[in-house]
Amino acid sequence: MNKKRLIIIAVVVLVAGALAAVCFKPVRSFINGKKEYTAEGFYMNTYVTAKVTGESSDATAKIILTNIETIENLCLSRTVEGSDIFNLNEKGSFQVSDLTLSVLKTALDVCDKSGGALDIGIADLVDLWNINQGAAQPPEEEKISSLKGNKYSNISINGSSVTLDNGAKIDLGSVGKGAACDTVLTLLEMSGAKRAVVSIGGSILLYGDGDFTVGIASPEKGSADYIATINTQSGFVSTSGTYERFFDYNGVRYHHILDPETGYPVQNGLASVTIVSDSGVLSDALSTACFVLGIENGKKLAEQYGCQAIFVTDGKQIYSTDGIRNQIEITDNSYTMAD
Ligand code: ADP
Ligand code: MG
Repeated sequence: MNKKRLIIIAVVVLVAGALAAVCFKPVRSFINGKKEYTAEGFYMNTYVTAKVTGESSDATAKIILTNIETIENLCLSRTVEGSDIFNLNEKGSFQVSDLTLSVLKTALDVCDKSGGALDIGIADLVDLWNINQGAAQPPEEEKISSLKGNKYSNISINGSSVTLDNGAKIDLGSVGKGAACDTVLTLLEMSGAKRAVVSIGGSILLYGDGDFTVGIASPEKGSADYIATINTQSGFVSTSGTYERFFDYNGVRYHHILDPETGYPVQNGLASVTIVSDSGVLSDALSTACFVLGIENGKKLAEQYGCQAIFVTDGKQIYSTDGIRNQIEITDNSYTMAD
């Protein structure tokens, strides 16, 4: 395992964590004699780090951040006025860009195949809980009841025109970061970059030859520490975890991954789910869907898409699909491999 590289990634995440208000902070460094350039920012409501090695790494790293900001503002944000999703939610029907259309199609396929565990039509329920904006207590039960239940079947696509029925509103918080990672891959392929690690919150793009070591964040300490590592090649890794956004109320933890069926945050003993995939949007969509589904059905869904899944439980057990088990190394010995 290349611990050096892993620690470098962890340090970057920590530096980004301390830079809440800074939007563009490039850092130039040399690692193992190779010129490496890191650009950091805050986009899509999370910390973004683009670490690039190779020809014109500085320009490429900066362009990656601009690219992420563009996709957020033109396509996927539901709060930025003028984006596709903002317009669609406002008007109920809207002709969206090719990129937004492709993200919606993939997301809706996962909504369908997960039996509604993933539901991109639950923006009103997400707003009611308000966990991402700092809620301190759960909303009233009647309000939750009035908004629970699947909504994605009210989203229909005809050509590039998308229509929302029965008051459905779209929230792409579960898929947008992975989708943005996909577009970064296209950009890197056009650049002289040799190797890159780009993280948008819990979604990571690994680019270049050879192995990469990625840490699975500690449910107790978040991205400040890790409990196990995955040894993998270029591709995408996304994690959904209870520790990302939450509040505690009367001894109960309320986190940001909601079960559309009950209207409440999922309580199934899972602390996090990590998906390894060759698609960014799929890795992100599946990390949320598999979290809601739980270990058994989550594994089946990930495998249906040819992806690998790693489940960490509150009881400090680690489960995974067969295809990745040999690539996982536990680094915190209070955790054990369960199967
Ligand atoms: P993160 O936002 O930390 O990357 P996820 O990828 O798991 O985590 O996405 C969680 C976000 O997706 C929530 O903040 C909310 O906006 C939205 N969301 C919550 N539950 C669901 C769900 N069951 N289906 C689709 N979107 C969801
Ligand atoms: Mg997700």
